[in-house]
Amino acid sequence: MAAPELYPTVQDEVARLTSSPEVRAAFDRFRSQETQFAQWQLEATQVPAPPFGESARGAWLADRFRELGLDPVEIDEVGNVFGVRAGVGRRFVALSAHIDTVFPASTPLNIRRQGSRLYGPGVADNGAGIAAMLAVASVLTSARVSHGMPFLFIGNVGEEGEGDLRGMRHVFATPRWRDAIAYSVIVDGAGADTIVAEALGSRRFEIIVRGPGGHSWSDFGAPSPILALSRAIELFSHTPVPASPKTTFNVGVIRGGTSVNSIPESASMRVDLRSTSMAEIDRLERAMRDSLDRAIAAENYTAAQHGVRKPQRVQSEVVEIGNRPAGELARESRLFKVIHAVDSQLGNAAQVQRASTDANIPLSLGREAIAIGGGGAGGGAHTLQEWFDCNGRELGLRRILLTMLTLSGAGE
Ligand SMILES: [Zn+2]
Repeated sequence: MAAPELYPTVQDEVARLTSSPEVRAAFDRFRSQETQFAQWQLEATQVPAPPFGESARGAWLADRFRELGLDPVEIDEVGNVFGVRAGVGRRFVALSAHIDTVFPASTPLNIRRQGSRLYGPGVADNGAGIAAMLAVASVLTSARVSHGMPFLFIGNVGEEGEGDLRGMRHVFATPRWRDAIAYSVIVDGAGADTIVAEALGSRRFEIIVRGPGGHSWSDFGAPSPILALSRAIELFSHTPVPASPKTTFNVGVIRGGTSVNSIPESASMRVDLRSTSMAEIDRLERAMRDSLDRAIAAENYTAAQHGVRKPQRVQSEVVEIGNRPAGELARESRLFKVIHAVDSQLGNAAQVQRASTDANIPLSLGREAIAIGGGGAGGGAHTLQEWFDCNGRELGLRRILLTMLTLSGAGE
C-alpha cells in the first residue's frame, strides 16, 4: 500500500496553512485594516488612468509598493509597475491588477464614500483589484507571513478596450519575467464567486468610410460615408449568432461628419466581436466585412443613379485594433486544484467562467493563470455610476492570500 500521508493533497496544504498562527494573524488584519484598504482604493481611483495615460497612477502605486517594503520596485518602458517580495528560488507567483480604466482623461472623477459603499468611475474595476493587491502585500509584512517561492506584484497597464492587454503582453514578452512567472493570479473587479480559467477570444476593428464630401445643397447626391456606414450597421445587426458557443457583437463608437450642412468626408465605427469559439469570430468577421461591402456598393449605386460620376465614390478601410487570444487552464494544473481547494476550505462557492482578461495572455502561452475578484461587491462597471461595497472584502482577500501561499509551496 502506498503511504498517502507522504504526498499531502492540495486540500491538506490549504488546511495546514489556514490553521497556522501567521495566516490567522493575516486574516485578522484583513478585518482590522479595512479602513486602510478602502482609503487606498479611493486614492488610487482618484488618480486618472485612461488608456495609454496610466503613468500618474503607476507612480502612485510604485510609492505604495515601496512603503510596503517590496524590493526592488520598478516601472518598465510601457508603464507596468513591479514589486518583489523575496522568497525561495527564482520562479515567481505573480499577483497582478490592471491599473487602467475605460474612462477618457476628461472624465470627472467624483470619487466618494457613503457608509460601506465607494462610488466613482473605476472604483471597482479595477480599484478593487489594486486595493486587494496592496492589502495582501501589507499583511504579508505586518503579520510576518512566510512563503516559499518569491511573490511578484504587478500593476499593469492596458487591460481595457483599446489597451488590448498591452501591459500583460509586454510582461510576457520580456524574457526576464516570461520565464520566471510560474503562476499568475490576476485580480480584476469585485467579488469572490468566480474563477476565470478560460480566456474569451475577441477581435476588434475600426472601420473608416471616406468619400468626396460636399455641400448639402449644391452637391446633393454625392455618396455619403455616414449613410454608407449606417447601411453597413443595419445589415450587420441582423447577423444571427448562436447562444452556444456564446457569440456577441457590438458597435461601440461611431464618429463622422463636420457640420449639419456638409456631406461628410468620412465616418467611422468601432466594432467588437467576441466568442468562446474562434470559428464563430471568423464567421462574424466575414459577416461584418460582407455587410460593409454591400453597404458601400449600395451607396455608390444610389449616387450613380443621381448622376454622380465614378471617381466620386465612397471607400472603406478596415483596421484591426484588437485581437485577444483564447486559451484555457488545464483542469489537472496545480493552479486549478489550488483555487478549488482554497474555495472549499473557505466554504466559498465559485463558478468557473470564460472571459476576456489579462489572463488571456499567459493562458494563450500555455501558462497557469486565473482571474478572480478582489472581494466585496460591485456594480456599474464601465459607467459613471460604478460602485463598490466593502462588505465581504475579507473573503476575497483570504482567498487570494491562501492561493498565493499554497502555490508558493508554503503549505507543503
Ligand atoms: Zn477590469
